[in-house]
Amino acid sequence: MIPTDATGETAGAPSVTPAPKPAQSRAARSQPGDPARFRGPARRADTTRRLLARPALSGLPDGALEKWLAAEGQPAYRARQIRDAVWRQYAGTAEDLRTLPAPLRTSIDEAFRIDTIVEDEVKVADGGLTEKTLHLLEDGSLIESVLMHYPARGFAAAGRPAHRERNTLCISSQAGCAVGCPFCATGELGFGRDLETAEIVDQVRHAARRLAVNGSHITNVVFMGMGEPLLNLDRVLDAVAVLSDPRQFGLGARHVVVSTSGVVPGIRRLTKLGPQFTLAVSLHAARDPLRDVLVPLNRRWPVGEVVAAARDHAVATGRRVSYEYVMISGVNDTDLDADALAMLLRGDLAHVNLIPMNPVAHTPWQASPPDRVAQFAARVRHRGVGVTVRANRGQDAGAACGQLAADRAGEPLAPAVARRREAIVRQGETALRGSRSTDSLPPDLAAAVRDREGS
Ligand code: SAH
Ligand code: SF4
Repeated sequence: MIPTDATGETAGAPSVTPAPKPAQSRAARSQPGDPARFRGPARRADTTRRLLARPALSGLPDGALEKWLAAEGQPAYRARQIRDAVWRQYAGTAEDLRTLPAPLRTSIDEAFRIDTIVEDEVKVADGGLTEKTLHLLEDGSLIESVLMHYPARGFAAAGRPAHRERNTLCISSQAGCAVGCPFCATGELGFGRDLETAEIVDQVRHAARRLAVNGSHITNVVFMGMGEPLLNLDRVLDAVAVLSDPRQFGLGARHVVVSTSGVVPGIRRLTKLGPQFTLAVSLHAARDPLRDVLVPLNRRWPVGEVVAAARDHAVATGRRVSYEYVMISGVNDTDLDADALAMLLRGDLAHVNLIPMNPVAHTPWQASPPDRVAQFAARVRHRGVGVTVRANRGQDAGAACGQLAADRAGEPLAPAVARRREAIVRQGETALRGSRSTDSLPPDLAAAVRDREGS
C-alpha cells in the first residue's frame, strides 16, 4: 500500500550488484503469483551462502561489533566510530568509514557488508511530497519503500509552526507476501522471502540519506510496505531495536507503527513484550465470510480472535490500536458493514482509518466513491467508534503496495488476470451472501502459518 498518514536525489547510492535489465514480459519470466519471480537467477544459493558468511553492519545484534573489534585487537571506541558512520553518515561503502584507518576499513569490508540494498528506481508523486523507491536486494529480489513528507503548517508562538514537519517512511518486511489479499499488488506477487534485519533497516538509512541532503530527517517509520511483519517477527523486532537504539538511529518507539493482517500469536507475543510501538490491524471487513476473501489469513484466525488479541494488547499496553479499512465499492462499504464494524469495536481503545482502495490491475474492484466513504464514516462514528478518512498518497507513483515491483515483473498475462478477476468476483459474491470460504489457505501461507503456530 501506500500508507496514508501514520504519523530527489539518491545521494551516493552504493552499488552491491548491477541493476537488472529492463522488465521482460511476465510471460518470459514466470507465471502470475509464481514466487520464482522473487528469486534471483541461479545465484540464489550462492548469494544465500554469502549472506550467511558476511553479516551486514547495520543489522548486527547488540555487542557483536564490540566482540569482533576485540578479536581484531582494536580499541573499543572504534565501535562508536563505525556506528556513527553507519547511522549518522549513512555509509554505503567501506570508503565511507572515513574516521577509520585504511587497514581497518579493509578488514571491515572483508568481514561485513556495509549496505544490503540498491536504489533501483525512485518515483515522485504528489508534487514531490511522496517518493516511492524500488530497492534491489543482493539475490535479485525487489522491495519497496515510500517516503511521505508532511510539511510544517500553522502558526504558533515565537514563529514556531503549530505542526512540525514530519517525514514518514513506509518500509517492507518481506519480499512479496504469502497472505494474498486480493486487492493488494504484493499479495498478487506471492511470497519471495523474509527480509534480513539489515535489509529492513537499510531502507531507513537510504531514505535518511536522501533527506539529509535538505537538512531533514525521518520522524516516523511504519511497517506498511510489502510483506506481513508478524510472519517475520524476529527480524522485525531486531529492526525496531536497532531503529530505536539511541546509539544507532535513535527513533522513539512511539514513532514506529507495525501493521498486521491478523497473525494472532504474533500480536500476543507483542503484548507480552510491552509497548514497543503502535499496533495497526488491517481489518477490511468485520464479518468473517467477507474477511475470509479479503484477508485470506482470516480462515485461520477469524476476525473475532484478531480483535480480541488486539483489544488485550491495547488494555495491556495502554496504546490505542489503529484499524485499517480499505474501502472497496459495493464489497465492504455497505451500511451493514459499517454497523458490523461499529459493533465489533465499540468500547475498545481503537481508531479506524478508512482508505479508499488504490486500483490494482488484477482486481475488478474500484474504490468506494467519496460520498459513500463519508456516509460509512458518519455511521461508524455515530455508533461510538473513532474514525478518520485518509487521503491516498502517491496515486501517480504506483500507489498500491507492491505495484512498482509488480510493474517491473512485466505485463500480467491477460488470461491469468481474467481468471483471477473471475475468482475474486465469485468469492466476493459468496461472501456477500454470508457464506464462509471453504477454500484452504494458499500453500505458502499454510506453510508460514504452520511455522508460527504457538510462537
Ligand atoms: N501486511 C501488512 C502490512 C503491509 S500492507 C498488513 O496487511 O497490515 C499495509 C496496508 O496497505 C494494509 O492495511 C493493506 O490493506 C493496505 N493496502 C494494500 N493494498 C491496498 C490497495 N490496493 N489500496 C489501499 N490500501 C491497500
Ligand atoms: Fe500481504 Fe498486507 Fe498485502 Fe495482505 S495487504 S497481501 S497482508 S502485504
